[in-house]
Amino acid sequence: MKKAILIRTEVDSHWVGDGFPVRNFFSYSDVANQISPFLLMDYAGPKVFPPTSQRLGVGEHPHRGFETVTIVYSGEVEHRDSTGAGGTIGPGDVQWMTAASGIVHEEFHGRDFAKRGGDFEMIQLWVNLPKANKMNPPGYQEIKNHSIPLIELPENAGTLRIIAGSFCGKKGPARTFSPVNLWDLRLNSNTRTLLAVPATETAVVFLRKGSISVPGTAELKGPALCVLDPEESDLLIEAHDDSELVFLGGKPLKEPIVGYGPFVMNTENEIREAFRDYQSGTFGKKK
Ligand code: MN
Repeated sequence: MKKAILIRTEVDSHWVGDGFPVRNFFSYSDVANQISPFLLMDYAGPKVFPPTSQRLGVGEHPHRGFETVTIVYSGEVEHRDSTGAGGTIGPGDVQWMTAASGIVHEEFHGRDFAKRGGDFEMIQLWVNLPKANKMNPPGYQEIKNHSIPLIELPENAGTLRIIAGSFCGKKGPARTFSPVNLWDLRLNSNTRTLLAVPATETAVVFLRKGSISVPGTAELKGPALCVLDPEESDLLIEAHDDSELVFLGGKPLKEPIVGYGPFVMNTENEIREAFRDYQSGTFGKKK
């Protein structure tokens, strides 16, 4: 059975642009090996925004070498990028953006949401790309809530949405470049759930709300991050309260990681190349 090897509860908040008050729960600069193929997780909100006619968020900025995955729980996120893709996603929806060889994009609160104001909460993950796919053409998948399979867990334990990967023979809609499981769970209080996770695969739980325990921990109250021992198989989660969490799993890439700001590659030289390409202005355009 997998056991907790790292727990994080107290994380400082900072602003990304003027729209996203985020807490960075993990990053490849502090725990690279146990979280691969994931690179980073920012948890934005929950925070109530008053109605505004201003555009809140981050203007044009580049990415290269990985994918950004945005899961919205409250509010709306509007995106536009250099491939011409764009759209607004709301509660339950997911945006899966493949930066790969390069993309320039902007991320703002949705216009209608900004006008109305209200509760804002989202997660943004950075998912690494295998070396062989880092210079692929960029791409964009808009994954609406209704296209994400929702599984009822046994013994009325709750529900699980398969965003990526598979669970009990059902597949999630996201296309990925290496094996990734991204599951969004709601667990009922006083239940136990056993997730079948093979040994040698990464397993990370991020509890947004509620209270759970996993082997090796006392009771965790959300928000809390728990990284599990990648050597063991299967994960038992006990929910003490109604709880909302995401499970991040996958096969570790086992390739060198060299990152600088919005670029994550395999070598220093590829980072210098990313800066050169971005500054030359051809970056993220359709070839
Ligand atoms: Mn971005």
